[in-house]
Amino acid sequence: MSKSFYSSIDKEVENIRNEGLFKEERHISSPQQTEINLIDGQKVLNFCANDYLGLANNDEIKKAARDTLETDGFGMASVRFICGTNDLHQKLEKRLSRFLGYEDCILYVACFDANGGLFEPLFHAEDAIISDELNHASIIDGIRLTKAMRFRYKHSNMQSLEECLLRAVDQGARHKVIVTDGVFSMDGSFAKLDSIVGLAKKYDALIMVDDCHATGFIGKQGKGTAEYYGLEGEVDFLTGTLGKALGGASGGFTCANKNVIDLLKQRSRPYLFSNALSPSIVSASLKALDIVETDHERRERINENTKYFRSKMKNLGYTILGDEHPITPVMLGDAKIAQEMSKRLLEKGLYAIGFFFPVVPEGKARIRLQVNSEHKKEELDKAVTIFEEVGKELGIL
Ligand SMILES: *Cc1c(COP(=O)(O)O)cnc(C)c1O
Repeated sequence: MSKSFYSSIDKEVENIRNEGLFKEERHISSPQQTEINLIDGQKVLNFCANDYLGLANNDEIKKAARDTLETDGFGMASVRFICGTNDLHQKLEKRLSRFLGYEDCILYVACFDANGGLFEPLFHAEDAIISDELNHASIIDGIRLTKAMRFRYKHSNMQSLEECLLRAVDQGARHKVIVTDGVFSMDGSFAKLDSIVGLAKKYDALIMVDDCHATGFIGKQGKGTAEYYGLEGEVDFLTGTLGKALGGASGGFTCANKNVIDLLKQRSRPYLFSNALSPSIVSASLKALDIVETDHERRERINENTKYFRSKMKNLGYTILGDEHPITPVMLGDAKIAQEMSKRLLEKGLYAIGFFFPVVPEGKARIRLQVNSEHKKEELDKAVTIFEEVGKELGIL
């Protein structure tokens, strides 16, 4: 019995390897920053962290974490509603709500949990959830946990979204919610929030946005996708992460109106049945928000770097997806080419990872580059040069 189980697992792993889809983890031995050390001592340029504002190794943030470690200890050893709520948790919830323009906020240990725990308490069999086909895995899983009617629209296709809304109306849906990533992380593109808001008004639907790749640096004040479009106040449920631009450790949150948050605190399973965030992470996140709200130059730098790098890479002749976002996907198609390219880039001192099935659709393999505010112009130029060399070696350019 168990023998056949293990042999089928062996086969599955072998198949993944044979198809060139096996993800090898590289080990780094320095903090996350624009230049990092690999375990073998090689120094490489880092173009694949979500550290958009360069805060992952920031001195002030580290100090906040260190100080809180002394005053509040290492762990809460409890879920929030038993004895796991520290005054810092409440402070951060208030702070995130204020910054993002909501009545209230609920913290989770990851945005994966925020998305996993959002839909099931709020939407029921008579409701309709209408979701972009390229939404993040955690949204897809969160929706799966509900009994609601589910509709999936073609990626950023507003006609397809409207058809779904009409079907939901036809089927007598009580409440309808349109669900989208604010920024699609594999493509570096923005959701068409302006059109989505229009359709939501026309069909009396709610809107949920996952802004993991936007909070802190997109929009004039870093408030995310809604601010980018000038549509603050139009998104009913906003989820985000502390694990990307806001210091990069871990933690997630949902912002919404007060009663929605109250209900989530009563019913959302990843909140009720999982440990509270460590106080040192919470106080470091508060510090990250101080920086976001006062240091506007970081956002200017990331915007400049994004524009500069994207145009240089396009000029080389690569197919680059996306909008004005630091995520810069270089399309390659074949998974093995993406793997080979990533390997050669590393040999030349550039750390960037190939993405392929199941993280992106089959046949749409790519290298995803991410610029941040702290990359120096010379570092951007060096990355472009390495890309040119490797592209020629592989016959892509
Ligand atoms: C990274 C990401 C998540 C998961 O966030 P964690 O806090 O790391 O769990 C969810 N949604 C999107 C769109 C993301 O990019």
